[in-house]
Amino acid sequence: ARSLGEPESPQEAAALPGLAVLGDRLPVTLPDGRTVDYTNLDYAATAPCLVAVADAVNELLPWHASVHRGAGAASRRCTFAYERARETIADFLGARPDDHVIFTRNTTDALNLLARALPEQTMVVGWAGEHHANLLPWPRSVRLPVPESPDDAIRALASALAVLERDTPVLVAVTGASNVTGEVWPIERLAEVAHRYGARIVVDAAQLAVHRPVSLSESTVDYVALSGHKLYAPFGVGVLAGRADWLDAAEPYLAGGGATEYVGDATHDVRWHAGPARHEAGSPNLLGAVALGTACERIAAADRGAIDAREQALLHRLRSGIEALPHVAELRTFSADHERVGIVSFAVAGVPASEVSEHLADRYGIGVRDGLFCAHPLGRRLLAEASARLGRPLGGSAVRASIGLGTTPEHIDRLLAGLSDLAG
Ligand code: PLP
Repeated sequence: ARSLGEPESPQEAAALPGLAVLGDRLPVTLPDGRTVDYTNLDYAATAPCLVAVADAVNELLPWHASVHRGAGAASRRCTFAYERARETIADFLGARPDDHVIFTRNTTDALNLLARALPEQTMVVGWAGEHHANLLPWPRSVRLPVPESPDDAIRALASALAVLERDTPVLVAVTGASNVTGEVWPIERLAEVAHRYGARIVVDAAQLAVHRPVSLSESTVDYVALSGHKLYAPFGVGVLAGRADWLDAAEPYLAGGGATEYVGDATHDVRWHAGPARHEAGSPNLLGAVALGTACERIAAADRGAIDAREQALLHRLRSGIEALPHVAELRTFSADHERVGIVSFAVAGVPASEVSEHLADRYGIGVRDGLFCAHPLGRRLLAEASARLGRPLGGSAVRASIGLGTTPEHIDRLLAGLSDLAG
């Protein structure tokens, strides 16, 4: 494992300056006694931290002091760092001048915040294939069936919006990139349809933001939610960004210190702040904010085209390798050539997903995820379709491999070798 301050890896120096990740050479001892470098193919679950993120946190740690609550030098420095992180993230997300950027714990928290801030009677329209975080928080919702194509999704949305009552608010909730298939959704077209019917749209960018620029202003999306730990920052920090009016009119997500302008003596005599502070009561997660701000800054400054080209080459290697294995089937919603980020889920005929991932871990030191990836309705449906395509039963769960900054062609080849062993 690389420690802080060590030189950049050759791969990083060549193509991705400033984006070295911690722990991309972790030694793991296998059950047979061999020690190998850990092969992380689980970036979609949680990405390792950037070295730059750890450095920024370490630099601030000696100054640890309260945010927004003191005039001492340490407090001022921490308040400045916290608000600067908010500005950096606003830039990263192409926020409009009057959008709010609210720190949350993660995407799940951000979407729950928005769900609690919806005007009364808001109807939320989404697809059944969403991650549970974008499926379960909505108090009133319409679930559209998993579409067969992006055009199908657009048509279904337009039909659903056409029949909803015009005088109640409507929010369209959609993923930017699927955590199961990596498929990228047509966000701008969906935003255009939503707005044509007077609805708003929130994008769950938990997977998308790390792979593609996301811009509230350019894509005319109303809200975006994301998690730090999928963006090369640590756990415990996320963001909800978007239109101020609903957020400023809502009851605070958390009630307590920091969210109030004035508290009177009578029980309910309280005036809440407008702005992000309204929903950020309590001592904030300063280090998380700084970590996420630093990650966003580094990613924004990088050559995203080069990162994407590298990722797409690895993805192609992985997908064509899987396609050549007659006992393995990929999960997909759209056509095989639809645009994707570096995520592939698959199932192995005759071998339960948990055994596949154990085999990969124990024989090859590879980390992947198995299950239904917190998208149960989608996972079940795609497994049934993949099984029909392969002509063999595939069991009730899948394996997901996902690619990130530390992934190399050797990692992909190791995974494919591990899958070849399972042919039966
Ligand atoms: N949405 C998508 C598409 C995800 O992939 C995830 C995490 O897996 C989430 C939401 C939830 O993220 P978190 O667990 O960080 O709240």
